[in-house]
Amino acid sequence: MHLPEFEALGLAPHCLDALAHEGYEKPTPIQAQAIPPLLQGRDILGCAQTGTGKTAAFALPTIQHLMANKVKHEKYKARALVVAPTRELAIQIDASFAAYGRGAGLKRACVYGGVGKVPQIKAMERGVDVLVATPGRLLDLRNEGAIDLSMVEIAVLDEADRMLDMGFIHDVRKIVALLPKKRQTLLFSATMPSEIEELARGFLRDPVR
Ligand code: AMP
Repeated sequence: MHLPEFEALGLAPHCLDALAHEGYEKPTPIQAQAIPPLLQGRDILGCAQTGTGKTAAFALPTIQHLMANKVKHEKYKARALVVAPTRELAIQIDASFAAYGRGAGLKRACVYGGVGKVPQIKAMERGVDVLVATPGRLLDLRNEGAIDLSMVEIAVLDEADRMLDMGFIHDVRKIVALLPKKRQTLLFSATMPSEIEELARGFLRDPVR
């Protein structure tokens, strides 16, 4: 199947194949707006609710970057990090990376609280392309030496306003402080209260809105 509107955004054939497999025909507005600047390596401040297709908007350019710049995986390190407020959302995002990264052979890990750590530590052992995590468990495993954020190339903070409401903002600040200075950062939020604007000013570099 030919997907000219997705192709025009600059997506690579492996992404187009995955989209065709999902049955998507054309980009949603946030995908059309976010994918081209993300492929150029720009930071993004996205005001978007769930259901707008924002997961594909950040996952597709991330996958394309990872595939185009392959490096050897290193113990406990992740190349892309997505931080999400809840276990349900983290699992859903990880499943989206599996779907949109179909055939790309991405190594993934998904970590969240309320379950045993051992399988999550095992998943990180040889390093991953994409780590999706909730804030508390991410910091726990990092403090135990099972997650190393020093090589993250792309960081996504999803549903930032919910993280604020749930009291995770302090953890989010700690996580961002552990990331390399040179990185691409994406922040998505359904609402933009002043606290989120302020976070964005601190975390993002000349973001596209
Ligand atoms: P999200 O906002 O990322 O949670 O996505 C909401 C839903 O829209 C998910 O079920 C996606 O599979 C679906 N979706 C995302 N992008 C598209 C698209 N371009 N065409 C059709 N469905 C889509």
